[in-house]
Amino acid sequence: MTAPPALPPWLQRQLEALLAQRGHAILLTGPSGLGQYELGLALVRAWLCERPSPSGACGACGSCHAVDVRTHADLRVLMPETLCLEHGWPLDESTQKDLDEKKRKPSRWIRVDAARDAVGFGQTTRSRGRTKAVLVFPADRLNTESANALLKTLEEPAGDLRFLLATEAADQLLPTVRSRCQTHALAWPDEEEALAWLQAQAGQGGDRSTAQVWWRASGGRPADALAWSTLGLTEAAWRSIPRAVARGDWSVLYDWGPARQLSVLQKLCHDLMTHAAGAPTRYFRPDDLPAPPPWRTLANWSRELSEAVRTVEHPFNAGLMQEAWAARARQVLGKGAVSVAGRTQSFRATV
Ligand SMILES: [Zn+2]
Repeated sequence: MTAPPALPPWLQRQLEALLAQRGHAILLTGPSGLGQYELGLALVRAWLCERPSPSGACGACGSCHAVDVRTHADLRVLMPETLCLEHGWPLDESTQKDLDEKKRKPSRWIRVDAARDAVGFGQTTRSRGRTKAVLVFPADRLNTESANALLKTLEEPAGDLRFLLATEAADQLLPTVRSRCQTHALAWPDEEEALAWLQAQAGQGGDRSTAQVWWRASGGRPADALAWSTLGLTEAAWRSIPRAVARGDWSVLYDWGPARQLSVLQKLCHDLMTHAAGAPTRYFRPDDLPAPPPWRTLANWSRELSEAVRTVEHPFNAGLMQEAWAARARQVLGKGAVSVAGRTQSFRATV
């Protein structure tokens, strides 16, 4: 585990503004892909740093190093086990043993014993520095029991304890948790600034028009745009997707993993709906879209995709799931071969 990469300029500006705040509990909100985790970690690292500056942690002291190698004694990270594994945060010994022995799947929720442990942590004396910190991400994965375990500590933490909660679904937080925090809504980056940043991240392969494709494919969410650049998405591949999916050709999407495949189908469905309604598309170019099916079919598909997103992390057979999605997408889009006039009428009749 090494030091985190430098924050993009728009997150850096928000970090500096948040460092000037004194509150003991900060809640970062906003849609997914805006950098809640990255900003939250940078803020906590700066709180704990032995030589912080107004622009953040020094990156060189013992405390910064301890955060970077995930061993800081004055930091507790409350995350679902699935995300701990993804971001390299260690699990406690018995949990790791259970997972190694496949006794159970990693939890998608923040477990109540982890929340109770954080409460106990709040009552111990710090081992170094001025501050202790608890990072909770995503805070919407606190179930009621875990959230209730935290409430009192969140309301009246010991003098040197600070909380950083971050979420991509603030509406799913208990109001009692929300009301105990100072909320900061993450800012959407400016497109020009984001494109320059994306090109710099991608190095050689990042010409401007490709960066624009990543930006468009992400709907303006930088973390997602960066993920597209890492996957090496090309303009030709992105533009081919709508018609390929309509033909039942899944080859472009095949290696992307179920969650990303579903999000592509949702983007396609979204754009077909906005295009049918005469509004500008967001992810795909209108001339790359197949003929849209009737509005009612799209609305049903949209609902099915939202339901699939809620269960995508469950351990179903990924291969079977993909086949079912591909078949359904072809079935939905295959119905698009109706006359434009008929489509327009069916849309108006059902809105
Ligand atoms: Zn430092």
